[in-house]
Amino acid sequence: MRRTSSPPPHIHKFGGASLADTASMRHAATIVLQQPEPKVVVISAMAGVTDVLLDVAARAVRGDLEPVRSAAQALRTRHTETARALLRRGPDLDALVQLIDTSIAELEQLAGGLAVLRELTPRTVDYLVARGERLSAQLFTVALREAGCQVAYVDATEVVQTDGMFGRAAPDLGRTERSARRVLAPLLAQGTVPVVPGFLGATPEGQVATLGRGGSDLTATLLARALGAQDVSLWKDVPGLLTADPRIVPDARVVPQMHVREAAELAYYGAKVLHPRALIPIIKRKVAIRIRPFADPASLGTEISQRRTLEQYPVKALSAIPGQALLTVAGNGMLGVPGIAARTFEAVHREGISVSLITQASSEHSICFSVPAESATRARKSLQETFRPELARQEIDSVEVQTGLATLVVVGLGMAGTPGIAARIFSALAEAGINVIATAQGSSELNLSLMVDAKDAARAQRAVHAAFQLSKIGGGAVTHPERSDVVLLGFGQIGRALAPMIAKVKRDGLMLRIVGVIDRSGLIFDARGLSPRRLAALAKAKAKGTSLAKAVGGRRASAAEAVELIARHALANPILVDLTADDTTATLTSALSAGMHVVLANKRPVTAHQRQYDALRAAAQARGRGLLLEATVGAGLPIIDTHQKLIESGDRVAKIEGCPSGTLGYLFGELGRGASFSAALRGAIAKGYPEPDPRDDLSGMDVARKALILGRLLGFAGELEDIAVESLVPAGAGRLSLEDFLTSLEQFDDAWAQRVAAARARGGVLRYRAIVTPRRIRVGLVAVPASSPMAALNGTDNQFIFTTQRYRTNPLVITGPGAGPAVTAGGILNDVLKLAGGGGGGGGGGSA
Ligand code: ADP
Ligand code: ASP
Ligand code: MG
Repeated sequence: MRRTSSPPPHIHKFGGASLADTASMRHAATIVLQQPEPKVVVISAMAGVTDVLLDVAARAVRGDLEPVRSAAQALRTRHTETARALLRRGPDLDALVQLIDTSIAELEQLAGGLAVLRELTPRTVDYLVARGERLSAQLFTVALREAGCQVAYVDATEVVQTDGMFGRAAPDLGRTERSARRVLAPLLAQGTVPVVPGFLGATPEGQVATLGRGGSDLTATLLARALGAQDVSLWKDVPGLLTADPRIVPDARVVPQMHVREAAELAYYGAKVLHPRALIPIIKRKVAIRIRPFADPASLGTEISQRRTLEQYPVKALSAIPGQALLTVAGNGMLGVPGIAARTFEAVHREGISVSLITQASSEHSICFSVPAESATRARKSLQETFRPELARQEIDSVEVQTGLATLVVVGLGMAGTPGIAARIFSALAEAGINVIATAQGSSELNLSLMVDAKDAARAQRAVHAAFQLSKIGGGAVTHPERSDVVLLGFGQIGRALAPMIAKVKRDGLMLRIVGVIDRSGLIFDARGLSPRRLAALAKAKAKGTSLAKAVGGRRASAAEAVELIARHALANPILVDLTADDTTATLTSALSAGMHVVLANKRPVTAHQRQYDALRAAAQARGRGLLLEATVGAGLPIIDTHQKLIESGDRVAKIEGCPSGTLGYLFGELGRGASFSAALRGAIAKGYPEPDPRDDLSGMDVARKALILGRLLGFAGELEDIAVESLVPAGAGRLSLEDFLTSLEQFDDAWAQRVAAARARGGVLRYRAIVTPRRIRVGLVAVPASSPMAALNGTDNQFIFTTQRYRTNPLVITGPGAGPAVTAGGILNDVLKLAGGGGGGGGGGSA
């Protein structure tokens, strides 16, 4: 709209509870005075007045005039006394008292007429009930004027234009905008505060119509829209919009901020705090509504706006609608017959009954829907009428009604596309022993509605509230989930060994699930977790050469795309395990930024350039995520862990020496026993010891990477290129393809036999050794004396010898199996458990 020169006003609406008596009226006036100009004030009827007026109408039409008279008298006294208490004696007060008298006298007159006519039209009800708002707004206007505020009472019929549906009139936005500009804008421009009764509007003929119970909220947002306002304060008797009705859920908390759509959903589904249609005028506008505590004007209450915050809460609030009935239209003859659903709802609609929850079994055998209990009988009659022929032909068996139900509504933007929310709701209810009778998810996916027995409704709300830890939404942290979702990046031998181990983890209060598996071709993902059986089947197929993309439920994607896709889901304490041998730095960085922990068996990202590794660690630190890599050095042996413990206890590590290659250890053992190189290497491959390309082991690169990881722990500042590495790859073999290399192993047998013989002649045993100090790293083949501990290494045993300040003359030696899928998977699992067990074990401690 075109703006007047002054800035848009702030709209302040005071609800009935905030206008209970003299004291609260006075407090409301103080609040208004303190607010910056320009401002518009919208006023509800004094607390309880609307109820009294409706009751007066209902009794009058029954001829029950005695209570009507005393109710009218009570209304007169209440308003007059408040006026006298608030205002000084004088013409203003006299005029107001006169006005109250006239209004109540008219009420009594109207009631008398109703008792004679015995007919009550919605139009009369509206005319009668409108005086509640009109009286309190006029009273408030005078009170503000006395307090020194330049004010003007503006009747709602002059501004709010509606379709004229008495009792639930819908505003006409365009016409209201024009009226507001004509009537309110000039007042605002001259510095006057308009005071408008809420809840009311004009029919096209200019008569008064109400907007439905609680309609003053709508008046406020409507005026905001019409005047281009960006701030609406709804002053209420609650500290804000709460996670649940505080009368039912005692530990309900203020939601600091809520999206308009969430609030709309809540209001629509019965949260009594906001008029269901109040958000419509501003749904796509840059307007922030605040539900503000009348008792504590300085507090922020709840902001309802277009912002999205609190994303860690997929569910933000819940409410329940009592007094619901469930209607079921069922029959075998409905199957595949078009139009049954349409006719069903047409039949209900004809009766003016609104349906709030609908489910249809996919078999189309039945349609269930809920209606307010008081309309159930009418709805059923109408349906029986509509389906008379079908009922006669027994195509429809029956139209059944189940009463005494309540609809529980769980609301949150984060539910959209977040799998597992429904499951959490259902299990919370199941644990509380509550039976869910029907359920439906709104197509907006903003809410999940569940019908329960009315007597369970309160308990159901408390159970769901607790399950989503909504009592902590006001800033208290959500405690760590006892569940952890694991994603395997790489599904080779180690991944296939790890999967069943993860499935078997049984720890108090901890549940580990694999939700995704990624290979070079694509991924398999299910946020609810992949069952051990499914994983076993995938492993089997994979071992046979079927890529994941081709497996049932598989999707094509690059590793980066797969991680990104998975990261979009709300997983519980997610852990990404990198089991590849690729350069995955970019993928891992995005996983960390998305809030995943990372466990590495992959050495590449940590042996890349220092800067790159530092960036990875910084990404972990920035999100408070763990980056653990125990398995990159000694497979299942606690090498990094030992180093960390030494440092934590104040020791200083000067040197780590070792044979960190299970593959080479095994190879030399076999060679020492007289096996040929080709046979020994094939044996190692068959047992799953080497890297995917065994030349990475033979070249010493794998040992060099391990040495670099250890070196970086000790403060070695160099890169992989700075390490002197002695390669064992036979001359010429480096250029072959992996396949060609593997088929031509025999041609290297002789050279290896000679190497072994030469070492033996020197009275030693061949070992591939790394020496790591903070300044220098050397990696290569040595002949060690047969008496040394290194010579005693067996099979795939690794050995790490720590020379430290404390262990100087007698170094600390760690020996054990250092290769093979099972031990490596064991090492990885340890890291996973550290991160899963409360997340605290992580923090990047082991890696830093
Ligand atoms: P007004 O005074 O503006 O008419 P209402 O009575 O319409 O205020 O709304 C406030 C009432 O709504 C509170 O007294 C509270 O009992 C009820 N209520 C129900 N659900 C909620 C909720 N989720 N958050 C806050 N209040 C709620
Ligand atoms: N006084 C009306 C009611 O009680 C409107 C309102 O308070 O918003 O429903
Ligand atoms: Mg209200």
